[in-house]
Amino acid sequence: MKRSHQLWGLSWQNITGWITGNDNLPEMHRIFNVSCFIATLFCFLAGVQCLLASLDPILIANNFIYTLVLAVLYYLSRFKNKFGTSRFISIFVLIFIYTPILWIYNGGSASGIPYFILMFSSFLTIQLVGKSEGSNKRALGVVIHVLFSLIVTVLILLELFLPHIFYQYEDPGTRYFDIIISLLFALTSNYFILRAFVNLYYKQLDKIEEYSQKLEELVVRDSMTSIYNHGFVVKRLAEEIERAARYNMPLSVMMTDIDHFKKINDSYGHSFGDEVLVKLAQCIQSNCRNVDIVGRYGGEEFLILLPETNVNLAIALAKRLTETIRKIDYSNSIVVTISGGITGYQSGDTASMMIERADELLYKAKNEGRNRILS
Ligand code: GH3
Ligand code: MG
Ligand code: MG
Repeated sequence: MKRSHQLWGLSWQNITGWITGNDNLPEMHRIFNVSCFIATLFCFLAGVQCLLASLDPILIANNFIYTLVLAVLYYLSRFKNKFGTSRFISIFVLIFIYTPILWIYNGGSASGIPYFILMFSSFLTIQLVGKSEGSNKRALGVVIHVLFSLIVTVLILLELFLPHIFYQYEDPGTRYFDIIISLLFALTSNYFILRAFVNLYYKQLDKIEEYSQKLEELVVRDSMTSIYNHGFVVKRLAEEIERAARYNMPLSVMMTDIDHFKKINDSYGHSFGDEVLVKLAQCIQSNCRNVDIVGRYGGEEFLILLPETNVNLAIALAKRLTETIRKIDYSNSIVVTISGGITGYQSGDTASMMIERADELLYKAKNEGRNRILS
């Protein structure tokens, strides 16, 4: 089952596909690209806002310089595939340069800066939580988070004891405007970050489902003929017997064996023998219903379970099968025949009892001259 990777009706792939870059990039790389892109945009807008409000030139310059840095990092990561370097530089600049300058020149905790910090810490978390990262990198992640927290703590203490070094808002209107813009910034960014993680989670869930389905198929199928293997067909027989007993339904079992297969191998080689096996298995499978279970019981023996089918119907199928099998085209033009035995479920039967009876009938068919299915 394929999930649509959507959150609140928006398709992550469509909206951000061109920003995130190549589909084959690791998800963390793509998340970095989109975060970097959004940060560049917001940083630029913040710069314009500062310019329009005629704020301190250092603050204006800080925003534009950082816009430039982010744009370069985005370019390197998105177009030059330098994700590792960009990631490292962005963390460094974010913690040691941008955060303190912004805090001091934008009013400290009295403005919207705490909300920017909320966004930055999400950004940092994204960069530090990579599924491929080893424990030493995870330790580095912890160090960076501690440094980040220390810087913020120092800024709060500075604000408490040396308030004059911080920008003071002249009117409450500007201050609330700053808070609202920062809040919007933080919420939007965190929304995208959350969506990226949800997307990553669903993608991995899909992969797990796909692999487990493949694994299940591998476990129950015969690798050469692709029909069910011995273990599965015998297990299913036991289940079908239980069903037949409980609901009082007919159940037939057919055991078949290729005639003179040894000779075919000896005359034309084992790979031709394999071809015969594969084509025969396909032929049997396509002549059965979807509910029938066709399995490779042994080397060239097939066990066919026919639920809700009485012996007469099974004989009709056997007739059709023997005729169709004789017409199969092989790379060496020979006619291959099969012999078989059909038995119906009788009260008290077990799987091995039914298999034994079908096998005895198969043996009888061989003795009577082969190319026949007895019941
Ligand atoms: P009969 O008519 O009495 O069944 O004669 P037969 O030669 O078919 O009987 P037998 O059971 O003695 O031979 C089975 C042969 O099937 C022997 C084995 O080499 C061959 N065989 C079993 N599995 C495979 C396989 O996967 N590929 C090929 N090419 N041959 C196989
Ligand atoms: Mg055999
Ligand atoms: Mg045989």
